[in-house]
Amino acid sequence: MSSVRFEILREIYNKKPIFVDKIERRSKIFGENVFNDAAMRQYVSEGAYQTIKYAIEFGRKIDRKQADHIATGMKNWAISKGATHYTHWFQPLTGTTAEKHDAFFNIADDQVPVDKFDGAQLVQQEPDASSFPSGGLRNTFEARGYTAWDPTSPAFVFGSTLCIPTIFVSYTGEALDTKTPLLKALNAMDEAATEVARYFDKNVNSVNATLGWEQEFFLLDKLLVNARPDLLLSGRTLLGHVAVKGQQLDDHYFGSIPDRVIGFMRELEIECMRLGIPVKTRHNEVAPNQFELAPIHEEANKAVDHNSLIMDVMDKIANKHQFKVLFHEKPFEGINGSGKHNNWSLTTDGGVNLLSPGSTPMKNLQFLTFFINTIKAVHDYEELMRSSVASAGNDLRLGANEAPPAIISVFIGDQLTKVLDELEGVSKGKLSPQEKTELKLNVIGKIPDVLLDNTDSNRTSAFAFTGSKFEFRAVGAKFNCGTPMMVLNTIVAKQLSDFKKEVDSLIEKKGLKKDEAIFNILREYIKASKKIRFEGDGYSIDWEKEAKRRGLSHHKTVPDALKVLLSKKTIALFKEMKVLNEEEIYARYEIELADYAKKIHIESKILFDMAHNTVIPAAIRFQNLLIENVQGLKEVFGASYRDLGAEQLNMIEQLANSIKEIRKKLHLMTMEAEKASKISDAKKRAEAYGYRVREYTKQIRELCDNLEVLIADDMWPLLKFRELLYSR
Ligand code: ADP
Ligand code: MG
Repeated sequence: MSSVRFEILREIYNKKPIFVDKIERRSKIFGENVFNDAAMRQYVSEGAYQTIKYAIEFGRKIDRKQADHIATGMKNWAISKGATHYTHWFQPLTGTTAEKHDAFFNIADDQVPVDKFDGAQLVQQEPDASSFPSGGLRNTFEARGYTAWDPTSPAFVFGSTLCIPTIFVSYTGEALDTKTPLLKALNAMDEAATEVARYFDKNVNSVNATLGWEQEFFLLDKLLVNARPDLLLSGRTLLGHVAVKGQQLDDHYFGSIPDRVIGFMRELEIECMRLGIPVKTRHNEVAPNQFELAPIHEEANKAVDHNSLIMDVMDKIANKHQFKVLFHEKPFEGINGSGKHNNWSLTTDGGVNLLSPGSTPMKNLQFLTFFINTIKAVHDYEELMRSSVASAGNDLRLGANEAPPAIISVFIGDQLTKVLDELEGVSKGKLSPQEKTELKLNVIGKIPDVLLDNTDSNRTSAFAFTGSKFEFRAVGAKFNCGTPMMVLNTIVAKQLSDFKKEVDSLIEKKGLKKDEAIFNILREYIKASKKIRFEGDGYSIDWEKEAKRRGLSHHKTVPDALKVLLSKKTIALFKEMKVLNEEEIYARYEIELADYAKKIHIESKILFDMAHNTVIPAAIRFQNLLIENVQGLKEVFGASYRDLGAEQLNMIEQLANSIKEIRKKLHLMTMEAEKASKISDAKKRAEAYGYRVREYTKQIRELCDNLEVLIADDMWPLLKFRELLYSR
């Protein structure tokens, strides 16, 4: 067995990087496989083109006739790109993407073979998707659910398939995916933010949320992953002693990217360019064999689709380079896990970033308005924010001194803290002319300069302001960004609509001027939301205590974090913003708890196999070697063998005890898992897995890892951390 380990390593050392031979000018191939504006102009009639534009910009319905025209154009374009099939491409609640390919090919009534794709097929499909999680939203007789075209995210050709981004809903209209509520939240944001932006510029017609994600991942040779059942089946190592050299020296971070990895990245980037994913940055991350990729930000719905798509593309390209991508939040104990920073901002149809200060006091007041409202929203809904990044994998990463803790706080930097402190002192009601001048000149007038050195010195905060955007850093690497983006945009939309009502009321009822009313409300928000702001070290134990004192939530596990979904406040919020109804929320809650329980259950089974079928046999083989050795000593030295072989005897005993202990714990773990599986209440079942079963997996791991240190290296059957992390 262990000889396989060494064969694998030898094979990997002999691998050469694969470079796609031609590097094309990126700007030339960008969007080549996307049914974008240019493609539509070429392939659909002027009338149909206008219909799509209206649908994208104003949400207008597309009638059947126009849909037929668009479908024909889309089909011809896709065929010109080598497509033979089409699929509705959607994001069910499994966290991945789903597709079911149908050929364009058909046989017409008169037996003539044709390529066919019409409006009905473009607009709506009924995949037989009854196996996707629905949290009880579909009875089996209505199990089908259907997918419906989302024209705001362009169709694309990937491989030989035309992919059409769609939503996925039940027959009765409930959302069964992440995209449906995201689109509703973005819509709510557009309405609320546009109204507020119009205080400052009457010409604003719409506001888009923007997202720029940064994706962290590990890249390992395929052979390594295939040889470790835990990595292969659960995406993370369930056993393995920490390598002597991990990331202590920080010598991987931003270091020179290894050749085989560059080969992979180059091909990946070229594919991304063709698919219209604007990837820009690539670098080594902190841990060995860990990397990061980031695009230029885009409108949030598109960016979410692109992130979901890129994870799929990465898998495929990695395969060509004989790599496997690990998206798990915590693949290795003792070194950093992976996250996905979500950079978020708001942009008007005129291209103005509302979280960026401008050249006039009024523009800066606009910036402050959106800035403070965002902080207030996060303050009011911190628990909901936390729930949006809850997963079995992320539980292992948040708070592990490498990622923000499971406490949501906002970091804004010293300079902006000073600005908010000054605004807190603004007088109540009408402002004197002197106070107004003072505010305009000395507080808001100075904001652009202040922001110039608003360096992002704090990487430990869950939600940090970084100059012209907020960065949500608690999102897990494997997540669909749709959920955290749905929550963030919903809560800020709600906050902005409340703000608008309050400001209008001060203007109407108290006769204040617009800017006075805004200052008055912002002052109250700054006061009310103070406890969410934290500038110190988010990793420290002091912060945990301080956060508790402040009354901030600290939910370390999924079952705890999800509780808030069922609160009256959450249900009322989603209802008011028309994002999710009560049944949909409840379904999501159940699905996530079930997913958590299942993942831990699977991990416990994999661990059982590895410990029982691999680690224990290795221990016995090594024990036999020791026994043979002691017997030999006895033969050669007679009675003094006890003294000469004392250490061997010790080890034999230690091995026997470990084997006994591991078997006992495996048995207990299995009993707990069995008990847990019989609990019908979703929360209690999740807790049983999360607390009791997971606790045994930790104890068993420790016992096995100790054996890894004890047993002769050439007899250890599993690839070790140093081999997983340093072979490439
Ligand atoms: P880092 O956070 O690694 O220091 P940057 O601050 O330069 O790097 O930017 C990180 C990400 O922020 C980029 O991937 C980019 O897409 C995103 N970003 C920049 N501006 C915006 C914006 N207005 N809205 C959303 N994302 C943005
Ligand atoms: Mg960042």
